Amino acid sequence: MRKIALLGSTGSIGTQTLSIAREKKDLQIVAMSCGSNIDLFEKQIREFNPSVVSVSDENKAKELQDRISDLSTEVLSGMDGLIAVATCNEATIVVTAIVGMLGIRPTIAAINAGKDIALANKETLVTAGHIIMPLAKSKNISILPVDSEHSAIFQSLQGNDDNRIHKILLTASGGPFRGFKGEQLQNVTLEDALKHPNWSMGRKITVDSASMVNKGLEVIEAKWLFDVEYNQIEVYVHPQSILHSAVEYEDGAVIGQMGVPDMRLPIQYALYYPKRLNMSGERLDLFKVSNLTFEKPDLNVFKGLGFAYEAIKRGGNMPTIFNAANEKAVALFLDKKISFIDIYRQIENAMNKIDFIADPDLDEILQTEQDVYKL
Ligand code: NDP
Repeated sequence: MRKIALLGSTGSIGTQTLSIAREKKDLQIVAMSCGSNIDLFEKQIREFNPSVVSVSDENKAKELQDRISDLSTEVLSGMDGLIAVATCNEATIVVTAIVGMLGIRPTIAAINAGKDIALANKETLVTAGHIIMPLAKSKNISILPVDSEHSAIFQSLQGNDDNRIHKILLTASGGPFRGFKGEQLQNVTLEDALKHPNWSMGRKITVDSASMVNKGLEVIEAKWLFDVEYNQIEVYVHPQSILHSAVEYEDGAVIGQMGVPDMRLPIQYALYYPKRLNMSGERLDLFKVSNLTFEKPDLNVFKGLGFAYEAIKRGGNMPTIFNAANEKAVALFLDKKISFIDIYRQIENAMNKIDFIADPDLDEILQTEQDVYKL
């Protein structure tokens, strides 16, 4: 039996993780958390019967407690609750499917408690990769990527322990604004940004994909996961989303992973690694696809990707500034308080204004986040 603690069960990755658990009889959800959507959460609790759950919103946690008083499930709230879910005794692996820097503390707590991590919450690694990766190594903990690109890279690395990565080919769909010129981005709306051509995901990552900030976050995530330099990671816009990413080795061989765009595959691979199990759903038909195309991203238009390269090049707390400014700006954009292009302006402004710290500890990372929010 694989016993899972699932952070963010009500979200896009969370519900897809549960759909795998529903099919596979040897997966047990022993703990889970949500932000505030207790209607869906209650249904999930009744179906999967975890021993401990957490709702971030305190009032909603109390309401849930009343609603499920007929069950023995323990209901917690806030950051303490999130950490309790992540460190739940029974769990052997934690799926981090919450959004944003909120994931840092529970992820560190889970590693300290000896849990393997199936990592979807890329913002955690982007901002605290220099703390998390050495910690995981020292505790002999596996960080298994859930992001489809990073899972593809991870899959392409299997059987190559003694071979050095020459280059990572990180693919990007290009999002709904692929091919746009700078002036065309001026007037795009929230509704336009939320229309992703190939993937159905949570709102924040969908906007990040449209701005290509997501790809920037993924460049930084790949640097930490695979221990490469930023200039070994090259982004390819590949609108068909069939090649999910690849690795070029020293001899020029390029090994990649292809498949239909379906997040359940990388989630399942992380949960059962190194085993491959049957998966229901559509299979890749290359005759149907017929064309695989690759373009260079335009960093003059999709500035978010350029800022990410700059952030990782400068290091220290700069990726945190980049990420926190984006989180803040995307929340405002989702509330229709700023325009799409303002996201780039806010990131640039924060990267210029916030004090640089060369080797930030956890407190300094969280303080940097606060400083960005105060700007
Ligand atoms: P969603 O927005 O769909 O889900 C987010 C989850 O986090 C929900 O369960 C939500 O609960 C919970 N949550 C929100 N706010 C809080 C809070 N304050 N405290 C605790 N929990 C909270 O996100 P996704 O599933 O799309 O993304 C999750 C992570 O995975 C992100 O880091 C994303 O970048 C990454 N990722 C996602 C992919 C995808 O296909 N969706 C692909 C690759 C990576 P509630 O529903 O109650 O608000």
